[in-house]
Amino acid sequence: MTDLKERPEPEWERDATAQRCVWDDGAHMNEQPVIVLVEDDPNIADLVDMYLRQDGYRVYQAADGQRGLELVKTRAPRLVILDVGLPGAFDGLEVCKRLRAESDIPIIMLTARDDEIDRVLGLEMGADDYVTKPFSPRELVARVKAILRRAEATPRTPSIVTAGAVEVDLGRREARLEGTVIPLAVREFDLLAYLAENRGLALSRRQLLDGVWGQDWVGDERTVDVHVRQLRKKFGDALPLITVWGVGYRLD
Ligand code: CA
Repeated sequence: MTDLKERPEPEWERDATAQRCVWDDGAHMNEQPVIVLVEDDPNIADLVDMYLRQDGYRVYQAADGQRGLELVKTRAPRLVILDVGLPGAFDGLEVCKRLRAESDIPIIMLTARDDEIDRVLGLEMGADDYVTKPFSPRELVARVKAILRRAEATPRTPSIVTAGAVEVDLGRREARLEGTVIPLAVREFDLLAYLAENRGLALSRRQLLDGVWGQDWVGDERTVDVHVRQLRKKFGDALPLITVWGVGYRLD
């Protein structure tokens, strides 16, 4: 008996897909963004699933980490929602670590307790956002949209900002260190881009949260510190990212 929870789509949806395929001939114009949802509590999973589908996402569910990793490989999702507490060999943190080892796919973690938030942030797993249970499915969907919008946004005036030996290419959404592209998670790039756009200005953690995570984002200012640590780890001294004591951060 497997606890696989990937379910067939409702009939109307299958019909719609079949029809589209005739007209689009495999083109991706009307393709629904795919989300992999890894959550072992069927009540939460089904509720989130329903809200995401209502918003036009295609959802694949997994009830454990191993199955979640498989689904990410086979379904090529645009985003992963990942519960921290999962049964089996891999908990959510382990799954997050494994995903991050190979890709910068956006990840939202679901946490049940405050001390899990510490672990999500503190272990620098590279998740892009987290939501604490109990949460409103609407809020989760809003975060999904915000992350995907940001991941796909192209600035109107693409430009490259150079800071130290690091080039931040806002148009291509790439950061290069001496010509080599450094892989960054979505939020890491967003933070770096925001600092680059405001180069030379000291920005408070609150300003950074508002600018990068959005004004409706509710969470801990330590999130900024964690992402700054990640950037420093990836670029080292080549990135002139300065701590402004009592304020926040500045990119020189
Ligand atoms: Ca759980």
